[in-house]
Amino acid sequence: MNTEGLSASLYKLPFILVKDGIVNEVNQQFINMTEFTCDDLLSKSIEDLFKILRAGPNINPYSICGEKDYFIFTKSLDVRMVNIEVVEERNEKLFFFKLQPGSSIDAKYPFISKFCSDNYDGVAIFSLPDITLLKANETFVSFFDEPFNKLENCIGKRVSEFVTGFEGSTSEKIWEDIVETGQTFYTDEYMFDRFERGITYWKSTITPIYEEGKLKYCVEVTKDITEQVLQRRKIEEQAEIIRLQNEKLKWQADLLNLSSEVICTWKLDGEITSWNKGAEQLYGYSSEEALGSICHELLKTKYPLDINELQLILKDNEIWRGVIEHACKDGRKLIVSTSHQIVTNDNAEKIVVEINRDITEIARAEEQIKQQKNELEEIIQGIDDAIFIYDSNKRFYLVNKAAKELYKDHEFSNFQNLRNKDPFKYYDENGNEITADNLIVSRVSRGEVVTNYKMTFKNDLETKHMSVNGRPIYDKEGNLKFIVLSCRNITKDIETQRSLEQQKKLLETIIDTMQESLYVVDRDGNYITSNKLSKERLLTVFETIEQSFNLSEIYDSNGKRLTIEELPAYSVFRGETIKNEVYHYIFNEREIDIVTSGTPIFDEQGNIRYAVISTRDISNIIQSEKALKQAQEKLLATELEKNKALEQTLEIKDEFLSLISHEFRTPLNVINTAIQAINYFCINDLPEKAKKYLDMIKLNTFRQLRLVNNLLDITRADAGRIKINKKNLDIVFITKAITESVQTYASQKEIAVEFTSAFTERVIGIDDEKYERILLNLLSNAIKFTPKGKSIIVKISLRKNNICIQVQDEGIGIPKDKKNIIFERFGQVDSSLSRQAEGTGIGLSLVKRFVEGLGGSISVKSTVGKGSTFTILLPDEVVIEEDNNEMINLMDNRLVQVTNVEFSDIYL
Ligand code: ADP
Repeated sequence: MNTEGLSASLYKLPFILVKDGIVNEVNQQFINMTEFTCDDLLSKSIEDLFKILRAGPNINPYSICGEKDYFIFTKSLDVRMVNIEVVEERNEKLFFFKLQPGSSIDAKYPFISKFCSDNYDGVAIFSLPDITLLKANETFVSFFDEPFNKLENCIGKRVSEFVTGFEGSTSEKIWEDIVETGQTFYTDEYMFDRFERGITYWKSTITPIYEEGKLKYCVEVTKDITEQVLQRRKIEEQAEIIRLQNEKLKWQADLLNLSSEVICTWKLDGEITSWNKGAEQLYGYSSEEALGSICHELLKTKYPLDINELQLILKDNEIWRGVIEHACKDGRKLIVSTSHQIVTNDNAEKIVVEINRDITEIARAEEQIKQQKNELEEIIQGIDDAIFIYDSNKRFYLVNKAAKELYKDHEFSNFQNLRNKDPFKYYDENGNEITADNLIVSRVSRGEVVTNYKMTFKNDLETKHMSVNGRPIYDKEGNLKFIVLSCRNITKDIETQRSLEQQKKLLETIIDTMQESLYVVDRDGNYITSNKLSKERLLTVFETIEQSFNLSEIYDSNGKRLTIEELPAYSVFRGETIKNEVYHYIFNEREIDIVTSGTPIFDEQGNIRYAVISTRDISNIIQSEKALKQAQEKLLATELEKNKALEQTLEIKDEFLSLISHEFRTPLNVINTAIQAINYFCINDLPEKAKKYLDMIKLNTFRQLRLVNNLLDITRADAGRIKINKKNLDIVFITKAITESVQTYASQKEIAVEFTSAFTERVIGIDDEKYERILLNLLSNAIKFTPKGKSIIVKISLRKNNICIQVQDEGIGIPKDKKNIIFERFGQVDSSLSRQAEGTGIGLSLVKRFVEGLGGSISVKSTVGKGSTFTILLPDEVVIEEDNNEMINLMDNRLVQVTNVEFSDIYL
C-alpha cells in the first residue's frame, strides 16, 4: 500500500492494514496497545479481528465512523476506549486506532479497579446505553450460569447475552429505568429466579457515571444474599407457625367463651368436659354445675334420631347437624340448632364437641309464619274469585277452590300443561281471540300489572265473562317470585247490564214517543237526560239549566218573570211540589205556554238526587181559551145591552101599568063609595032586582079594585118600592082573625076551615096589612082550588128561629114542573083552569114579594089530586116600632073590606 500520501503523524498511531478483507499488517504501536502478537492477528479476516478485539459497541468493520467512541479489549481483557479512522485505497484499508485520553478505566477510575480486585462483592462496569460488560471481577462473573461464570466468556458482551433469562425479567426493567432516568438503583433484597440453580436473592447498587454530562457507564456492586434470605425466611416461617399456633389457641379459648355461641364438650359416655360462658347463659347452669354431669340428662335433650344412630354418624368422623330440644335449669324449653363432632383432644381422648345456637324465637316465628301462611291459604281457598298463583316459571303454586271449579278439576301442574289441555278459548272485549303470549299470566310475567281486564272464557258448553286482575310479586332482590291472578265471573253482571241497557233503550223510546217533553236534572243543574221532544223544543239543547235560562225569559201564570232559583227544577230540589204549573217561555223569539210538573228522585239516603221535569205545550189551548173568552165577553155585552133595552121597556111598561092602575082606581073608588052610600042610605028603597044588580056591580067593582091593587103593588114591588111597616103584634091572634074572616066564603062552598096553633100567643115584628094580603091570598086560592066538602087547615108552629104558618088544602094540587112558575108574575098552572076561577096569576108572585119583604120565605109542597101545603117562614123576632100609638082593630071595616076585595074573584 502506498502510504506516502498519509500524514506522517498518523503513522505514529496504532493501525492495521487490511488487504482484500484480510489483516495484512499491524504496526508495533498496535501490538503494544492490544498486547496481542502478530501471530494472533495477521491473516485473520477483518470480522475475526474485531471479534478477537471484542470491539464494540455495535461495531461494523465496513462502516466505521471516525467520530464515534468504540471500545476494544487487550489480550488481558482490559478495555481501551478508542476512535477509529479508516483510510481506504483500492483493495487496501488502513484502520487507525486513536486511544482516547484516559482510555483505560483502571487509570481513569482507580478506586473502582481497587474495588474490583478486592473480589469481596461482585463489581462490574458496563457501558451505556448498550449495557455491555466492560470490566468485572471474578466474584461478579461467578454469579452467572456456565459458561458465563468465566470472565473471558462475558467481557465485552451485552448483559442479555450472559445473564440467563434477562430478557423480559424484572432485571431488564430495572436496567431500562436506569438508562432512561440516569438515577442510581439500590435494593436491599432483590429476588431473581431465572438462574439454573433456582431462586436467588441479591443486594445491589447500580450507579450511573457521567462524562461531559453524558451517561456513559454504570458501576454495579452486587452481593449474593440468597443464603441469608433463606435463613431469615426459615426463621420467619417458624415464627409465623408459632404465631398461628398461638392465635389458634387464643381463638379456641375465645370461641369457647363467645356469648352467642354455646359450646360444650362431652366424653362419648356423655360426661361434660367443658362448658363455655354461652352455655352458662343459655341453660342457666354454671360450669361448676355442668362439668361432670351427663350432657343429655342435664339438658333433657330430645334428638330427632336414635341416639345409637347419632353415635354411628359421629364415629364415622362426620359432623351431625340438626335441631334438638333442650330444657334450661328453670324448666324453659329451648329449640336449638346444633352441630356435633368427635375430635381427639390433647390427651388422645375422643370427645364430642357440641356447638349450639338458640333458635327458639326463630322457630316460633317460623311456626307463626307457617300458621299465617296456612290461614292465608284458607282465606284464598274461600275467596269466591278464582285465584291462580304461579311461580316465576309459570308453574302453578296455588290455585283455590273457585279456580278448580272453573276448570272442572283440571290437573294443574304448569301453565304450559294447562294451555295444552285448556278447556277454554279466551277472547277480548272486542271478540278477538287472545294469543297465548297475550294471556294475562304472560303479560304479568313480563312485569305488567293488569286491573279489571274484561275477557271471555268460551267453549262449546259455556261462555263466561270474566274480570281479571294480575300482579307480579317480586322478592327483595327484585326478581319475579309469583304471578297472582284473580278472575271474577261477571257473566251475570254483564247480562244484567245488557238487560238494563235494553230496558233503558225501551224506556228511552217510550219517553221519546211521549207527547210531553221530559228531562232530568242533577243538583248542579246539569241535564242528565232528556227526551226527543224536549230537545226539539230546544229546552235541553244545552248542558246546564243555567245556559238555557240565560237565553230565555220565563214567566209564571201571573206574568211575573222567574229568577233562576224559581225554576221548576230548583223548586223540586227544595222539596216543593210542582204540579201542572203554567209558565210562559220566550225562547229564540218563540213564545210558548207550557204546563210543567216536577218530581224528585231520591238516593238511598233519602236525599233528592235528580229532578224529573215534564212539560206540555199548551199554547194552542191557551189561545183557543182566549178566543172563547173574547167571544163570550162579546156575547155578554150584547146580552147586557139587550137586557138593558128590555129593562127599559119593562120600566116603561110598569110605569104605564102604574099610571093606568091609578087612573082605574080613582073611578073604582068613587063607584065603590057610591055603592056603599046606596047600601047605607037607600038600600031599602031599591026594588029586589035593583039590589041584585047592585050586588053584581059591587062584586065586579071589588074584583076590579083587587086587580088594580095587585097591579099597583106588583109594579111597586118590581120597582123596589114596597114599604114595609113592622109593628110588634101577636101573630096567633092576627092569623086566627083572618082565618075566621073567610069562614063565610068557605062555608058557602061547604069547605071546613080549621085553625090550629102550637102556642096561644106570639108577638113578633110584622106588617099586619101585608100579612093580611098574604094569608087572604093563600086562603082564597085554597078555597078556589078545593072541591066541596073538603077542608082547609091553617097551622102556626115554631120551626127553628122562625114562625111557621102553613095553609094546607085537599084540593087539586099542583104538578111538579109548575111549582116554581106559580110564584112568578102571571104564572098559572093552567090558564083554562084559572079562567074558570077567574084568576090573573099575580097573587102568588105578590105574596112571595111580600113574604120576602117581611124577611121570610115561602115554599109549596103538593101532590096532584091530593092537595097542597103552602109554608111561610117568618123571623121570630120583635122590632123597635116607629109608631106605638096606633092601635089596630082588626075587626074594623078595613079587614072586611080587604077580605071582600080579596075574595071578589070567587064565584059564590
Ligand atoms: P090567580 O089570581 O090566578 O089565582 P095566583 O097567583 O093566586 O093567581 O095563583 C096562580 C095559580 O097557582 C093559579 O092559577 C093556580 O093554577 C095555582 N094555585 C094557587 N093556589 C092553588 C091551590 N091552593 N091549589 C091548586 N092550585 C093553586
